[in-house]
Amino acid sequence: MSYTNWFRQHGNKHQAILQKLHHLTDEEIIEYFRFDNMVKNEPDFCLLYAENKKCHEMKNLNCYLCACPNFRFNDAGFRQEANKTLYSYCTIDSAEGDQFTTDEAIHQNCSGCTVPHHERYIRQHFSRDWFEIMKAVPSPI
Ligand code: SF4
Repeated sequence: MSYTNWFRQHGNKHQAILQKLHHLTDEEIIEYFRFDNMVKNEPDFCLLYAENKKCHEMKNLNCYLCACPNFRFNDAGFRQEANKTLYSYCTIDSAEGDQFTTDEAIHQNCSGCTVPHHERYIRQHFSRDWFEIMKAVPSPI
């Protein structure tokens, strides 16, 4: 699946949940997106939920800002780096982030980074509109 398709599909799922939760306060919405609750009540939100598996082994994992506002992608590629095409990167160059490379491609690897999963971070960037928070993520070249 392309980045663009995943981004649209995931944002639409987020939006549908938010419509259902419109009567809750912002803080209650953030609480609703805690992993333990999401696994039980929103099984289709993440593929890992079927296995009751977290994307990151951390206490109090919150799924509200999956993917991450600091992620940038372009399905056509941003530029060439050492004969490989760069398709995604992290704007804050997080120390917990990494790159996944193949013979032809470079992708941002967020598997070790917990930045967007902390509730303090989510409160700082909170909006009920996931597409608004993530508006810079699909990036032009
Ligand atoms: S490395 Fe961390 S901060 Fe950077 S895009 Fe990935 S999850 Fe976000």
